[in-house]
Amino acid sequence: MPPMRRKGDLPEKLCAQCGRPFAWRKKWERAWDEVRYCSDRCRAEAKSARGRG
Ligand SMILES: [Zn+2]
Repeated sequence: MPPMRRKGDLPEKLCAQCGRPFAWRKKWERAWDEVRYCSDRCRAEAKSARGRG
């Protein structure tokens, strides 16, 4: 059989802000090792979390 690409083959991480798993995205292909948040919103919340509850 020829090699087939499975849809579920993408790497995943846990968001450092909301704790949910998120899958690799094309826009992260060059910085996947540095990605910590599932979205820009979570990234913004993580930054603004200081001093505000
Ligand atoms: Zn998140």
